[in-house]
Amino acid sequence: MRGKLNIAFCSSEVFPFAKTGGLGDVSFSLCFNLVKLGHRVKIFLPLYKNIKPQKINSHYGFSKYKGIEFFFIRNDKYFRRRYLYGVGTEDYRDNLRRFSFYCKKTLQIIKNLNFTPEIIHSNDWQTSLINVYLRTHFLNDPFFKNTRSVFTIHNLSYQGIFDKEQYPYLGLPEKYFNLEGFEFYGKINLLKAGLLFSDAINTVSPTYSREIQEEEKGYGLEGVLKKRAAVLRGILNGVDYEVWSPEKDKFIYKKYSSASIENKHLNKLKLQSSLNLKKGDGFFLLGMVSRLIEQKGVDIVIASLEDILKKAQLIILGVGEKNYEKILKRAEKKYPGLLSLNLKFDEALAHKVYAASDAMVVPSKFEPCGLSQLIAYKYGSPPIVRATGGLADTVCDYRDKGGGFVFTLDSPSSFVEAVSRAYSLFKNKEKWFKLLKKIMRYDYSWQRSVTEYIKMYREALSRPPTVAG
Ligand code: ADP
Repeated sequence: MRGKLNIAFCSSEVFPFAKTGGLGDVSFSLCFNLVKLGHRVKIFLPLYKNIKPQKINSHYGFSKYKGIEFFFIRNDKYFRRRYLYGVGTEDYRDNLRRFSFYCKKTLQIIKNLNFTPEIIHSNDWQTSLINVYLRTHFLNDPFFKNTRSVFTIHNLSYQGIFDKEQYPYLGLPEKYFNLEGFEFYGKINLLKAGLLFSDAINTVSPTYSREIQEEEKGYGLEGVLKKRAAVLRGILNGVDYEVWSPEKDKFIYKKYSSASIENKHLNKLKLQSSLNLKKGDGFFLLGMVSRLIEQKGVDIVIASLEDILKKAQLIILGVGEKNYEKILKRAEKKYPGLLSLNLKFDEALAHKVYAASDAMVVPSKFEPCGLSQLIAYKYGSPPIVRATGGLADTVCDYRDKGGGFVFTLDSPSSFVEAVSRAYSLFKNKEKWFKLLKKIMRYDYSWQRSVTEYIKMYREALSRPPTVAG
């Protein structure tokens, strides 16, 4: 058995302290599984307003949660704000300063703690500067001599792009503002620099790792990613079944398992009542728990409402673009008792929706991995998904002996057709329950993926550090 690793894990959101999407879930559950295997992990994230650390000093807050040490980087001016990144879809204007501060400070604190990491694992653009500073400011620091950096892309469409005028705030020589560094069409691109300076890179599904090397889904970085293809992997996210299991779930009305699947419908009846939907087992109840942004296919759902609400009810839980919210509010009035719109981030309600729904819809235009469909399996709510990214890797169509309903085109009619097929099966109770029992047994826990991360870490450690810039 090879030695256990010291891992500094850096993420701008980690459940249960901060979460706006899958990054929060994945950050915690990956670390938790690394620790279960005996690795020593410390987590570094900003000290946001809602976080109440167990201890605090002027540099950072500290908490221990489920055996993992959390260090919350402190800067009240930057992080004591209501939201993590901005208001609605409008980013805070000083995000470059906020996150470059966090990145520099994280490396300093790692050093001050005398925690020598073999691996620094950064996630998405907010943390990418950590891997850059490691190979610039700290290049000749003996403390980090044996450290290798890993960078995970959770969503390539967010890159941390800023005007060139802000470059001085990074505290880096001008020479790194070039095509082999930060420069991206005349602007600063933090994610791009992260890709170039890291020793290993991965994204969160094998299909997405291939898609982002092509123009359509590469968001202008396909060339950089191709260049780094030798160190780029696709590792599927897992689900934390301690949090997401209907037999243990504290938030749902009635717990159930595949052996007591008949109890699932009590969740449906209760939630229908509580959300003012028409009550009844006969309604085909669809759920959607998602950020309401273009990526997630909200336009497809909106364009399909008339068709799908002839057969089904739909609960939407999400926040996002104001324009979608407005259109959906109008639709809710148009379809009383059939459409329930919940424009908020609500962890407890999310659990209830997964448990109550007959099927979950995930019609994304692109999807790095997607957690909704994996959670949906566990709750016996077959996912209706578009075949892209991680959805393509995890959902096989019922017609091909899979556990969901898959459509391929980016079009409402293609989506409606998949919903109709699901509905037809729903009416055949024997076949439907057989499907639910089957998908509830699927295993998307972290067990397999965590070993792939460790393999990636060890590969990075076996190579010399990346020279970039
Ligand atoms: P993304 O990270 O792109 O938002 P994922 O499918 O990977 O998408 O993860 C989304 C996570 O966030 C899931 O755990 C989902 O249940 C949760 N989620 C999304 N929107 C909400 C919301 N409004 N309230 C509660 N949970 C939400």
